Amino acid sequence: MLWYSAIAPAIRQSGQPIAQTILQEQPFSKSPLDSNTKYIYLSFDDGPLFGTSACISICENENVQASFFQIGLHQSRSNWGKKLYNRILSRPDLFLLSNHSFTHTSGKYVQFYNQPDSALADFIYAADVLKTTNNIVRLPGNNGWRTDSIQFSSKMVRPLLRKLDSAGFNVVGWDIEWNYTKRGRPIQSAAYMAKMVDSMFAQQAYKTRNHLVVLMHDHMFRNEADSAQLLEFIHLLKSGNQYQFARLDAYPGLKK
Ligand SMILES: [Zn+2]
Repeated sequence: MLWYSAIAPAIRQSGQPIAQTILQEQPFSKSPLDSNTKYIYLSFDDGPLFGTSACISICENENVQASFFQIGLHQSRSNWGKKLYNRILSRPDLFLLSNHSFTHTSGKYVQFYNQPDSALADFIYAADVLKTTNNIVRLPGNNGWRTDSIQFSSKMVRPLLRKLDSAGFNVVGWDIEWNYTKRGRPIQSAAYMAKMVDSMFAQQAYKTRNHLVVLMHDHMFRNEADSAQLLEFIHLLKSGNQYQFARLDAYPGLKK
C-alpha cells in the first residue's frame, strides 16, 4: 500500500520518539495505585464491530473501567464505526481507546511481522486515524509485551517490538483470554472465566503482581445471550468485592 512507503522513510529519519509526536496535549493519565489492591483490566479488541455497542453499554451501566483496542480500518470505513468510536471517547472517565493497528495484518500475520518497517507504519497510520491520546498499542493476533518493566514476546514479533519501543510506544498483551468459537461466540461461561480470574490471582499468574489483563473481543458480545455473559462475568468479579477495575493507562511500568 502506498502510505506504507510514504510513512516509513519519515520514521527512519526522525530521531524523536514518534509516539510522542503523535500524542495530543492530553497528559498521560496515571493514578497512584495501591499495591495491595487487585486490579483487573478488561480489554476489548478489534472494534468498532457488531458487539462494541454492548461492551460500551454494559461497562457504562456497571460503571467499570475498560480499554478498547480499536482497528483503524474498522473505525474509518463507516459512520457507524465512527459513532461507536465516539461513544468510547465520550467517556474518558471510564474508557481508554488504544491502537490495535490499521489493517490488523489483513490476515497475513507472518508477512506483517516479517516486515517491521511497514508494520510500524501501519501502527503510526492507525494512531493518526484513531487520534489516540496515549502511547499504548496491542499487536494483532499476538501476545507480545514491551513496556519499561516487561519484555515478553515470540521471536517473530521481536523486530517490530524493538521498533515500536524506539518510537515511544508501550506494547501491552494480556494475561488471560476469553476465547471464542469459529462463529465468534464465547467458548467458556462467565462463571468459568470468573473462577479462572480468581485462580490466576491466587496462583500469582500475572506479569505484574496484583494486575491482571483480560482479553475479550467486541464481536463475542453482539447477541443478547452472549452479552448477558459479559454482564454476568462483571457481576461475578464484583461480587467478592476484592477487585478494582482499571484502564490500561494505569498499568504499572509503562513508559511515558
Ligand atoms: Zn485483534
